[in-house]
Formats: sequence, C-alpha cells, structure tokens
Amino acid sequence: MLYGGATCMFEKNRLVGLMSVVLLCAVFIVTALFSSCNDNDGKENVSNDHDGDAVVKDSKEEKETADFTVVVDAGHGGVDPGKVGIDGQLEKDINLQIALKLKEILESNEDINIKVILTRTEDMGHYSESDSNKKMADMKKRCEIVNNADADVLISIHQNSYHSSSVKGAQVFYYEGSERGHELATTIQTKLVGALVENEKGRVEKANDNYYILLNVSCPAVIVECGFLSNPDEAAKLCDEEYQKLVAETVGKGVIEFLEK
Ligand SMILES: [Zn+2]
Repeated sequence: MLYGGATCMFEKNRLVGLMSVVLLCAVFIVTALFSSCNDNDGKENVSNDHDGDAVVKDSKEEKETADFTVVVDAGHGGVDPGKVGIDGQLEKDINLQIALKLKEILESNEDINIKVILTRTEDMGHYSESDSNKKMADMKKRCEIVNNADADVLISIHQNSYHSSSVKGAQVFYYEGSERGHELATTIQTKLVGALVENEKGRVEKANDNYYILLNVSCPAVIVECGFLSNPDEAAKLCDEEYQKLVAETVGKGVIEFLEK
C-alpha cells in the first residue's frame, strides 16, 4: 500500500510535471502570438506616428524655410468701397481679386520661397460697428498685420480714378523717405510699363509723404494703383479675369526681382 502509494505519488508527480510543461508551452505560444500581434500594431503605430511627425515637420519646414514674407493688402473693403468705376465697378472687389491672384503667383514661383499674408480674404474691413472712425481703425489694423508679420515687403493693391476719363495706366507709389521703398516701386513700375499697353506712355513711380500705410509700416512698401476706373477701356479690362492675372503676374515679377537683389 505504501509502495503502491509511492508509485501512485510518482505517477501523480509525472502527471503534474507533464501538465505543467503543456501549460507552460501553451502560455508560451499564446504569449508569442499576442506579442507578435502587438508588434504589428506597434509597427503600424510607429509608422503612423512617423508619418504624422513628417507632416508636422513639413509644414514647420515650409514656414521656417520661407525666404521672405510678403504682405499683400487688398485696399478698402466692407463699408469702404474705394473708388467707384465708370460702370459702377467697386475698387474693393477688383483689389481683392488681384490680391488673391498675386498671392498665388508669389507662392507658386520656383525661384524663391515666399510666404504671403493677405490683410483680407473677403469683402470686409478691420473695424467694429462701434468704431467712430472705421477707416482709421481699419488702416491701423492693416499696419499692425504687416509689422507683426515681420514682413520683407508690403504690396498694397488699389485702383485709381481721375476727373478726366482719358487718363489711364498703372502707377506705383512709395514713401518719399524710403530708399528701399523707392527701389521696390521702380522695379515694379518698370515691369508694368513693359507689360501693360495702358502704360505705353511710360508712367513713372511717384513719391508720396502722407499715405497712412506707407508711413506706418516698418518694411519697404508700395501702393500699386493698377489702373484708372474712370477710363472706360481700362475699367473694363480691370474687371477681366485674364487682365487681372496679367497685372498680378507683372507685379509679382517685380516683387521677386526686388527680393532676389
Ligand atoms: Zn484705393
């Protein structure tokens, strides 16, 4: 009985040992499988994280590697229509259409990396209803945008008007005390004279000492009066998509040439 008991104990121990081995193997296999699944997930996560990082890095790089910042200001907007054309065209609308095209042209050029900031992207002004002087509030805010952006250049887009309807042509204005502003104006004016028929008589850039935006920004700045809304032919052209594109391309070429110097 004792022997028999010993044999029985021995058998029991073998059985327990065997079961333990089987159990251990099972645990090992399950653990291995589970860990292999986790590895896959982990890899995907790493890969995703990596992609995510790459995207963030790209957008950071885009900002950090922009060689220049250009602010393009579409003059007027909101309650301020600017000049009203011979056929009722509103200067504020044409300004915005050309400004948007100029942004696209500058940002897609392949020579230098330019980041463009627009002072407005829709028909609005930088004022609140309670502002007693909406024009002043608007102008102050536009200058603030330029100075906060640490811009290299400001291009303010406008359209002109005159009591005599025969007057036409694009003209660039700069602050008379700014040498670099003058240089920028000359570069853009030269391009405009070469590209636009309306400028065949050869308008030249003009100094000014009282335009608010030219006086209150810390970078070379110009006002580009793209044409006269008081001249029937030029007013019609300035509303034409292709002509607006030509104006924007011409101004863009001047800006790029100036920045490359
Ligand atoms: Zn204007």
